[in-house]
Parts: sequence; structure tokens; C-alpha cells
Amino acid sequence: MAVTTVAAPPSLPAHIAAETQAFLDAPVLLQELSHGLGGPYHALFPERFDTNARAFTAVLEEAGVAGRVYFAKKANKAAVFAERAAVLGLGVDVASHGELREALAAGVAGADLVVTGPAKGDVLLRVAVLQGALVAVDALDELERLTAIAAKLGRVPRALLRVLPGGQRHSRFGMSPEELRTALGRTDGLQVEGFSFHLSGYDPQARADLAGELVGLCREARGLGLRADRISIGGGFAVDYVGADDWRRFQREQLPEHFHAGKSFHGGFYPYHSPVAGADALRAVLAATPKGEQAPLSTLLRDAGVALLVEPGRALLDQAGCTVFRVQGVKERDGHGILTVDGSSLSLSEQWFDSEFLPDPVLVANGPRETRTYPACVGAATCLESDMLTWRTVPFPHRPQVGDLLVYLNTSGYQMDSNESPFHELPLPPKVVVEPAPGSPRPRWRLDRHP
Ligand SMILES: *Cc1c(COP(=O)(O)O)cnc(C)c1O
Repeated sequence: MAVTTVAAPPSLPAHIAAETQAFLDAPVLLQELSHGLGGPYHALFPERFDTNARAFTAVLEEAGVAGRVYFAKKANKAAVFAERAAVLGLGVDVASHGELREALAAGVAGADLVVTGPAKGDVLLRVAVLQGALVAVDALDELERLTAIAAKLGRVPRALLRVLPGGQRHSRFGMSPEELRTALGRTDGLQVEGFSFHLSGYDPQARADLAGELVGLCREARGLGLRADRISIGGGFAVDYVGADDWRRFQREQLPEHFHAGKSFHGGFYPYHSPVAGADALRAVLAATPKGEQAPLSTLLRDAGVALLVEPGRALLDQAGCTVFRVQGVKERDGHGILTVDGSSLSLSEQWFDSEFLPDPVLVANGPRETRTYPACVGAATCLESDMLTWRTVPFPHRPQVGDLLVYLNTSGYQMDSNESPFHELPLPPKVVVEPAPGSPRPRWRLDRHP
């Protein structure tokens, strides 16, 4: 059936790494999994996680900076990534008792954990102390609880003091300069190993500036007899989902009528293209000269004997997974197609932020088709008007058919868990670990071990 549009909507193709391509090149496997699992599923590529992790450690080595990479676990609940972190010698950043438990079960040693998050519960603090984990203290009352809990156990907890970034004064995380001063006067029974922050946004210079301040804080704290030999600059290393030209063209050509039902997003869109991303963003932070300093951050760290801890989440998961839905229905409305898939937008978390996941899903057709651009939005198999996976009309290469698969690429960073819900009795998409099979061109799979 023909579909007429005012002006063809622009495409926004996602980058495709080798692991994802090998998976897409096995359409029979994709279909078998869809059939066997009976609904949408997430595919995970642990080899890509390994590659990303090695790139981060290599940047520290190349800069001659002592440091450690901690995988921010909240970015994906799968067991396989924590398992890879343990095997590769990475630390893990946890922010709940459940995340801590899962990290330990994956083989990460207690001393290799950093516990972040605001106002951590007593159980989390107790287990963190018993495990010898590093605790990023977020507030004065938490500091008090931590020392009290540790004193009862006869332990000295390892702590970082988290600072409220001067440039993000309204953040609900970290301690103001006054609170920090108070905290530094209350360090009895505490091993203060240094300071930490986590910034929103992706600006390397902002990270270098604040890191420079934290090196200064370490010097001050040492004057007070504290250890203060490390700083954590958190996560926030950008991910490059789409190419520069495609991103520019998309922004230029996108029109309001390219969105189903005239939908608009007041929250704006995530910056899906980033010229400096992943481990290169860490390289840029280390090469930047912090405000008021004469030398790059890497030199400041070396000269001060301060180690650099980083907690990437999204960037370690770049290209480490995708999400597969099955097309359950196809119809036309208002000059564009409406696809309905066998899941809900709760399995793809961006709608939560009054935004949507923009990179084009890839259509894996269940047979040969004649090429003819077919713009369509993607709706969920639920009874809510607003439950859409993709409001914008994606220019598919042909009219999809029931039974075709729709693959959302690069969804392993935050798109798989943060909003998942068995709403409507729709099952949560299971996670499938996909790896090369020795001696076979077709990858092999197993279920992830997360309970
Ligand atoms: C969320 C978070 C991270 C990870 O952030 P990414 O943007 O995924 O790299 C790291 N550290 C802390 C404290 C966080 O809250």
C-alpha cells in the first residue's frame, strides 16, 4: 500500500560494530530467538565490553597516570558485564545493596568496589565496610552513620568525600565547600582516600577543571594528616551513536510532521553524535589544562602522586548490545505507517525522559522485498495511546510485514533496564549473551546469569 508524505523524513543510521554486524548477519538466529523466547529480547556482546574497557585502561597507561576504571553497574543489570569487569581486573561502581551483591557474585572483590549514590542505606554501608569497599560519602549525616556503623564493627572504612560541583550548584549530590570543611574535621575512625564528583553532561574541560580542584583538596587534606591519594571523576564519557553528517542532516531536515500525532519532545534529544567519545574523552580530560593551572591534568596528577579513578557506565557498553522486537502489525494513518511490535516502550527507556531513542531501528525482513521507502512510527502492543517506542517516522527501506524483526542498535547503555516493567502482563525482555562460536561463522548464545 502506498504511503504519501509531505517531505520524506531523514534517516539516522546508527554505527554498527563488528559484533552487532555478525549478529545481524545471522537472521535465522535472530528469528529463532524471537520465536523461542516468545517476545522481545536484548542481545549482549561481551567482547565489545572488553574492547571498550581495554581502551580506557590503555589511555591511563599511555598518559603515565596511575588509576583505575570502575564499571558503573547501573548502566546495565546483566551479570555478564560485571563478570567481564571482574575478569579484566576492573572495579565496579555500585549504588545499591542489590548491585553490590551482584558485583560480588560476579567475582569482583569487595576492595574493588566503589559505593556511590546519595544517602546510602545502613545495610549497604555495613556490607560495604565489611567488604573493604571504597565509599563515596555524599553528605554529613551519611558520614556520621558510616563512622558509627564501622566503629561498631571495629573497622576503619575507606572513604572518598564527594564534592558538590561549583558549576552545578543545584545538584542534589555531594557536599558544599562548607560541608566539606566540616567533614574534614570529622575524620576520626575514617580512612579518607580522597575526593570524588560525578558531573552531568559530557564536557571534558569541565571535568579537568574540577579534577584540578580535587588535586588541590588532596594536598590540603594531606596537610591534615589524611591519606588523600586518589580522586574519582565519575562517569559521563560520551558515546557516539551516529555519524556527524547524518546527525547534522537529521537536525536540519527533521520537521514536526515527521512525528506521529504531532508529538514534540520538550526535553530535547540526547546528543547522539559526539565527536570525542569513550576512551578518547578520557584522553581529552587528561590532556586538558585545568582552570588556573599551567600544566595538563595528567601532569598535575603525576606530580601530586594522585591516582585517577573513573566510573564509566554508558561508554563501556558502547555497541555492547541491541534489542530485538517482532513486528506484530502494520497499518497506515495520516500518510505514514504504524508498526506495532511485541513489547512496550518500557523496554527502551528514553521515553521516561520525555524524549526518545533516535537512532534508526534496523528492519530484518523475513524474506526478499522490493525497495520502496516506507516511513513509519513504532507503537507498543499495549492499550495506551502514548506508549510508542518511536514517535518519529523512520524511513524504512520497504513496507514491513508481520513477522519481520525490528532491531534497536546500541541499547546496552541505560536502554535495557531503567524503565522496564511487566505492564499489561507483557514479559520483561530476557537478556541473551551472544559470542563467536569456535569453528562456526554463526555466533552462539546463552541466557545471561542475572536472576
Ligand atoms: C551514573 C553514574 C556514573 C556513570 O555515568 P555514565 O554517564 O554512564 O558514564 C558514574 N558515577 C556515578 C557516581 C554515577 O552516578
